[in-house]
Amino acid sequence: MTIEQQIIDLRRTLNEYNHKYYVENAPVVSDFEFDTLLRELQDLEAKHPEFYDPNSPTMRVGSDISNEFQSVEHSFPMLSLSNTYSIDELGEWIDRVEKEVGQVEYVCELKFDGTAISLTYENGSLLRAVTRGDGSRGDDVTANVRTIRSVPLKLQGNDYPDFFEIRGEILMPYSSFDRLNAEREQLGEPPFANPRNAAAGTLKQQQSQVVAKRGLDCTLYQIAGRDLPFDSHWDNLKAARRWGFKISDAARICHNREEIEAFIAYWDTERKSLPFPTDGVVIKVNRNADRRALGTTSKAPKWAVAYKFKAEQALTRLLKVTYQVGRTGAITPVANLEPVLLAGTTVKRATLHNADQIAVLDLREGDMVYVEKGGEIIPKITGVELSMREADLQPLQYIDHCPECGAKLVRYEGEAKHYCPNQSNCRPQILGRIIHFIRRKAMNIESLGEETVELLFENGLIECIADLYDLKATQIATLPRMGEKSAENIMQSIERSKQVAFHRVLFALGIRFVGETTAKYLAAHFRTMDAVMQATKEQLLEAEEVGDKIADSIMEYFADAKNIAIIERLRNAGLQFEAVQAEAASTSLEGLTFVISGSFANHSRDELKALIEAHGGKNLAAVSGNTSYLLAGDKIGPAKLQKATKLGVQIISEEDFMKMIEDSESVTPPTEPTPTEPAAVRITNAESPAQEDKQKEPTPIQGTLF
Ligand code: NAD
Repeated sequence: MTIEQQIIDLRRTLNEYNHKYYVENAPVVSDFEFDTLLRELQDLEAKHPEFYDPNSPTMRVGSDISNEFQSVEHSFPMLSLSNTYSIDELGEWIDRVEKEVGQVEYVCELKFDGTAISLTYENGSLLRAVTRGDGSRGDDVTANVRTIRSVPLKLQGNDYPDFFEIRGEILMPYSSFDRLNAEREQLGEPPFANPRNAAAGTLKQQQSQVVAKRGLDCTLYQIAGRDLPFDSHWDNLKAARRWGFKISDAARICHNREEIEAFIAYWDTERKSLPFPTDGVVIKVNRNADRRALGTTSKAPKWAVAYKFKAEQALTRLLKVTYQVGRTGAITPVANLEPVLLAGTTVKRATLHNADQIAVLDLREGDMVYVEKGGEIIPKITGVELSMREADLQPLQYIDHCPECGAKLVRYEGEAKHYCPNQSNCRPQILGRIIHFIRRKAMNIESLGEETVELLFENGLIECIADLYDLKATQIATLPRMGEKSAENIMQSIERSKQVAFHRVLFALGIRFVGETTAKYLAAHFRTMDAVMQATKEQLLEAEEVGDKIADSIMEYFADAKNIAIIERLRNAGLQFEAVQAEAASTSLEGLTFVISGSFANHSRDELKALIEAHGGKNLAAVSGNTSYLLAGDKIGPAKLQKATKLGVQIISEEDFMKMIEDSESVTPPTEPTPTEPAAVRITNAESPAQEDKQKEPTPIQGTLF
């Protein structure tokens, strides 16, 4: 693989991980794995400046903007932090700071593991609460933040600035997290991977009553404003505490490397008894004048660094390996452990992923094993303490038959997992598909929890998702623990599910690899169930985000007569099999033609196409003399740009386009095609790293930059 390809692949992978983490709140890898890949990309980019791209994940803050909230511009950029897992690297950072600005004071604080928030106060009252977003703009979540008790709605005293921002972290304490996940489990919803994701997911809830119940907390750590009372971070924090903000006690002024290391060592142990999650220590230069002199990069201030704690480890005994069968038939080996306390919770089970991993670890039942939890997903086993292995332990034999139905397992080419192929008769697969179908994000048949699904299945009332629509209230009411009222509720939510939008129906079917996002793209592209069912592989590949693996899986799903029979029953039951055509929003783009190219920060290409049509415009596939506008996103090919410029086609950015439709009165078709400088468009390689650096003059304002 060429270096360029390696860089492109790493950027793509990291962007995907960012989306999962910041937007879906469901990370698929640990922070350590993410940071290792990011570091790899940073190193490659540093060695090969010819592949510089201002949109690389090394250059930009991972964005949480969701389109479901109004987005608001930050008065000062809200950046990330550079981080390190190494004390030596921390020492190098201290050396760099002191070389630049001489001996300074540092403020050491805990690194709270939640989601960043910026609160704006006007005349002592909370005006706005905005998420970090992409660093320049964030989502306005004021209504939700108002429900958090530790956020003061009115300040105390009278020496606060008339107008200022204060930034900090929205956290979910372990107690709230455990309660929330227990409730989700009861409702058959997937649990949150960790308190950080739960806090971030809760903050983006549409109903603030739900937020109010989830027990969030908010701790603040940075004031930003033009006329702050003091010129040091420490003094401003003290003032903020007087005004009624929750400011952590765990902050200290340190004067040198030894004091900083002592602070880190102390909290590496003590944090385990804190009631909320932390993932490191943040070391900040104290005086604002020194901060201004040090400046920032496009992604993080140079005057602060996060030292991240390594994943917590515990040593415990592996009692037994059992095997779980998922709804797609995938087999996951699970380590059953002697209970051990790890990162605030008791761990009894850990995932072993697949047969290869067991072989690599050379695991044996009875071994003493290291378990790790890095603020992420499910704990995992990272090693065996061989010095403690007892002599008679036998190597593990991986199963070759399904532990549930006895079918012979298969292993598909290129897949690490074993699968049970007996989709129609294997209990956990049948139940898993039905449970997936009723989930809130799918058909939202809320009143049917996992337990009720099992009850209906055990009593022979349902065997597949289509059976749900044949249920009768009288059948449900006579089951154990059920009554007329609960039967009625279930019937009502099944009836309501017939109105659930087509893309969610598509997701609910549980086609392998078709997640929520892919289902949305498919629905936007094909518009009807019939069109998806009849699509050839080539046609499927034309839809956004659909690659070989997804296309094959969709083809396989619709090639199965049993699935077709289920789909026909769902159609007859009255489910939505068609995307609702957006009402013509306006005619403001009538007579205009658009070519869309590149990728966009806030919309998919299909969404933009739908918007163009909804406003009366027309989409074209290629740039020609008849094109009114080239709507250009990131990574648009230089050839397309050149052609548009040559033909005098106006080039606009996503932002320009959104302005056009928001402000439809001002849109008139360009009478004379005006060749525009593609300045609004971000072009790969347009700026050299040196130019980028030059733009990062220290900002001449106090207390800024978080
Ligand atoms: P970060 O979480 O490493 O550090 C910056 C953030 O720390 C700030 O935005 C702020 O919210 C927070 N913070 C907590 N306490 C603070 C304090 N006392 N002072 C200042 N800030 C404080 O950076 P990030 O940009 O939010 O996230 C990047 C990191 O997130 C990555 O390095 C990685 O570890 C993780 N991540 C993981 C995945 C994944 O898939 N696992 C994906 C994306 C990002």
